[in-house]
Amino acid sequence: MTDFKIPYGRQNIQQDDLDAITKTLKSDFLTQGPKVKEFEEKFAEYVSANYAVAVSNATAGLHLSVLAMNLKKGERVITTPITFAASANCVRYAGGEVWFADIDPDTYLLSIKHVRKLIESKPKGFFKGIIPVDFAGLPVNLEEFRALANEHDLWIIEDACHAPGGYFIDSSNQKQFCGNGNYADVAVFSFHPVKHIACGEGGMITTNSKDIYQKILLLRTHGITKNNMSENHGGWFYEMQELGFNYRLTDFQSALGITQLSKNKKGVEKRNNIAEKYKKAFEGKIKFQHLPPNLYNAHHLFVIETDKRKELYDFLISNNIFVQIHYIPVHNLPYYKMIGYENASLTNAEQYYSRCLSLPMFPTLSDEEQNFVIRKINDFYDKN
Ligand SMILES: *Cc1c(COP(=O)(O)O)cnc(C)c1O
Repeated sequence: MTDFKIPYGRQNIQQDDLDAITKTLKSDFLTQGPKVKEFEEKFAEYVSANYAVAVSNATAGLHLSVLAMNLKKGERVITTPITFAASANCVRYAGGEVWFADIDPDTYLLSIKHVRKLIESKPKGFFKGIIPVDFAGLPVNLEEFRALANEHDLWIIEDACHAPGGYFIDSSNQKQFCGNGNYADVAVFSFHPVKHIACGEGGMITTNSKDIYQKILLLRTHGITKNNMSENHGGWFYEMQELGFNYRLTDFQSALGITQLSKNKKGVEKRNNIAEKYKKAFEGKIKFQHLPPNLYNAHHLFVIETDKRKELYDFLISNNIFVQIHYIPVHNLPYYKMIGYENASLTNAEQYYSRCLSLPMFPTLSDEEQNFVIRKINDFYDKN
């Protein structure tokens, strides 16, 4: 048993993935070729969105999304403190101000109640947008957020990095897949190896708006387009219309993304089976993320809460179970303290952070490995 090394998340690269990469590496296009488009079309179909744009990583995707929302210097955006820093950083890239609203103590998602309170405590027009996060793979109820956003004329960027394949059921009994663009203006996914779909680095932006789609396409490639070419122009003609970036994904990464995507449905099913087993083992004994009815969790993470977090963390690490903490609240990171969020009153987030622990959760986690994790946690509680 001691030669087990169990991480909290792990990619799964198989022969079909390697074959797809090799084939593309031997083709004419390493980048800006047909695999990017194919990946975008397949991804858009998978999450039921009209448009998808592949990007070099989700952080770049969030940056382009904020720019597509026309965020200007000094404009204010609300997000959750319990997320990866990139959900907030994108606002800073555009010179905007990040405001944090507290989380729900049971789902750990950005609390709509707290967002509403924050918005209503300020004059109309004070905030421009909201960035909710499908934290741990649990889909945010974006129908409710859209209603609130419409009342106050706000845009919504869904950070769906944890949730490809997750969905909630809306009030008209429709399945709403994370990133489908029906309620949020744009959504962003990550293909970092610890997420569901591994491309090394990579990301995808989805939207149902043709205008936003075209704006993001332009910004992804330097702001350069050939669209205004007329008969009078030579074939080399192009225009740089905006100050854009090079945030492209390569063709061989896209080829990998396509094979990875084709296995995601099964992967999410496996993640849900693993979650069921953890829940059965811990029900009534250990608090874990609340799963409201009427949704399908993509289970990037399985988060538990414990009074003895440091002790349990150390104990599991010493048993080669590499649990993790998601996340140190963003407002407590030195950069955000420096710009003045130290005194933010985010008590649910603080309380959550003092207790949270992410257990191993990935499709290739074997029964034997999961039994070992559960047994070690039970051992810990028997002795403490
Ligand atoms: C991973 C992650 C990101 C950033 O993704 P990259 O592809 O690594 O840039 C952003 N938001 C959340 C919630 C994430 O988990």
